[in-house]
Amino acid sequence: MAQLTILAGGVGGARFVRGARVLAAAMDLDITVIANTGDDLWLTGLRVCPDLDSLMYSLGGANDTERGWGRAGESERVSAELTAYGVGWPWFTLGDLDLGTHIARTALLRDGLSLTEATERLAARWNLGVRLLPASDDEVETNVEVVDEDGEARLIHFEEWWVRHRGNIPTRRFVQQGLESAVAAPAALEAVASADVVLFAPSNPVVSIGTILTLPGMREALRDTAAPVVGVSPIIGGAAVRGMAELCLRTIGVEVSAAAVGLHYGPRPAGGLLDGWLVDSADPEALGPLHAAGMEARAVPLWMTSDESSAAIVADALSLAAEARTA
Ligand code: GDP
Ligand code: CA
Repeated sequence: MAQLTILAGGVGGARFVRGARVLAAAMDLDITVIANTGDDLWLTGLRVCPDLDSLMYSLGGANDTERGWGRAGESERVSAELTAYGVGWPWFTLGDLDLGTHIARTALLRDGLSLTEATERLAARWNLGVRLLPASDDEVETNVEVVDEDGEARLIHFEEWWVRHRGNIPTRRFVQQGLESAVAAPAALEAVASADVVLFAPSNPVVSIGTILTLPGMREALRDTAAPVVGVSPIIGGAAVRGMAELCLRTIGVEVSAAAVGLHYGPRPAGGLLDGWLVDSADPEALGPLHAAGMEARAVPLWMTSDESSAAIVADALSLAAEARTA
């Protein structure tokens, strides 16, 4: 059985992993997902892990497909009570079913389980078809340095920046809080080391994949693994398909193009992370610079409109990985 390890954020990551899961039986794949934990936060006394939960709900078939996030059939009675008490963030709604997950997770953490162990316990309820791992057991949270109306710089949590302000506030930089005393989760590092193929989902390159890569030990594990490492572009035709990747890339000074994001991760032979980079058919001009930099690259359709279209993208990524291995 081939070990496939996928680095992923939440909603975009989940679409990609659902595609990988379609191929699992036919291609004899054992799939492990390393989820971004930089969006995690303590809210109303509970540990909330947005990307792990997006993956769990989507792979478990319990996600709200219309709204695009959270649980299907959700209600918000508890949130209304919290707001009445003036507790929590009124603009960050936690559904009742979703709160059940956060309470269960917090209970497990309070019992002394690591986030890796707690995630395994939560995932056991759902038939995910993949192993779901947090990128870190330590609390590393993405903060954003913004500038107030009075010109003062201050740090806010990434979820406040995105959900409350929609990124619509003068933004200086992203900062991962807690990195000094953190490491990547041992199980996540092992999943990279023992992989036959590593894929980067077309997740946000700054605050999803980028945050996973800041965790001490992760870059080294990716450089050392014998597996080919191939990424899929979240940028199609010079724009992010869904989400805020454009805003994030501009903030870190990376051009919003398929080639620029691939080169930002960098070619492995030159000390970067990628053996191959898949771009969309709309971006053939990206291939020249990528090849010149020493990366395998191919242009194929990258719109994840269904599990089947996502599966075709994963199959193309695996085929590029096979090419990279023999190159
Ligand atoms: P989040 O954590 O919920 O924000 O989700 P991710 O970080 O996993 O994914 C968000 C990114 O996925 C967006 O910035 C998009 O650029 C990318 N994305 C979303 N849908 C598609 C798609 O259909 N095709 C491709 N190539 N990228 C997509
Ligand atoms: Ca996220």
